[in-house]
Amino acid sequence: MSTRLESAADYRDAIRAGDRRAIARAITLIESTRAEHAALGQAILEELVPFTGGSIRVGVTGPPGVGKSTLIESLGLHLIAKGHRVAVLAVDPSSPVTGGSILGDKTRMERLAREENAFIRPSPSSGSLGGVAHRTREVMLLCEAAGHDVVMIETVGIGQSEVSVSSMVDFFAVLLLPAGGDELQGIKKGVMELADALVINKADGPMRPVAERTRQDYQNALGLIRPTSEAWLPRALLASALEGEGVEALWAAVLEHREKLTASGELMAARREQAKAWMWALVEEGLRASLRAHASAQAVIPGLERDVQAQKTTPAASARAILTAFLGEAARG
Ligand code: GDP
Repeated sequence: MSTRLESAADYRDAIRAGDRRAIARAITLIESTRAEHAALGQAILEELVPFTGGSIRVGVTGPPGVGKSTLIESLGLHLIAKGHRVAVLAVDPSSPVTGGSILGDKTRMERLAREENAFIRPSPSSGSLGGVAHRTREVMLLCEAAGHDVVMIETVGIGQSEVSVSSMVDFFAVLLLPAGGDELQGIKKGVMELADALVINKADGPMRPVAERTRQDYQNALGLIRPTSEAWLPRALLASALEGEGVEALWAAVLEHREKLTASGELMAARREQAKAWMWALVEEGLRASLRAHASAQAVIPGLERDVQAQKTTPAASARAILTAFLGEAARG
């Protein structure tokens, strides 16, 4: 028997019941560039909002090959064995640019994908990084409404995507490789500041002692960063995703972090801030889209661009002219 899926309420009920086909179709709607599909996608989200927010949201980043998918699969299987329902989403910063994908090319997490209580979704593959991140965030809400109580969001650590992902999760883990020597890898300070935990992966076999030294170096480096919370000091951990070692300790850290930030009120405060920042990001995205679709503004833009380049007018005056064409009198305020 197949459920009828027409109205947003049909989708809501099917998704709440964990109907995978309904979830997949709703995601397609949310990601659609066709206005009426996207509108239905948004209507479904509106219906689902009361059932969202109930998951532990974990972000995982790190350079290609560090072991993100191996770790997520290992942690995911561990959590499913404990009775959790796990969703894994991806934000791939390369897909909007190249149309290809760093994260999606290989067959990933095959064992986890076979689990009834796992839901794995690759990155949306078109749109700006901001657009990809927004849609991933919406898919996260959908997964929560479908009863997933752990959502892991993976991203490759090569740019702005870490910032986007850290702004939609409760706990952000940065994966690193054991480094030879004592120099720290090219991890940007900004990324380190986002981390709730640094995980030195591949701490197995002959690399184990190197990994322990690397961990110590990073623990020291973390000590130099002013923590964002009084309740939680970011820590450096060891793991072997391949052997499943350190995975339980990582989860224990997620839970301890959660307990402490819940007690201090920071967890809910952070979620409120994230929701507000997300709203403003959507407002900005919407403004940009309407500017692109606005005929009279578009008509004046090429000439103004040329004039600015030829220094016939100032950027500020041209910006004002574009905004006036776009917004009329409101721009003069
Ligand atoms: P990703 O690109 O960060 O998702 O990395 P993958 O999870 O695909 O792993 C890249 C390679 O490293 C694969 O061949 C894995 O089997 C291997 N790998 C992952 N975790 C470990 C680990 O803990 N120890 C060792 N020795 N190899 C690992």
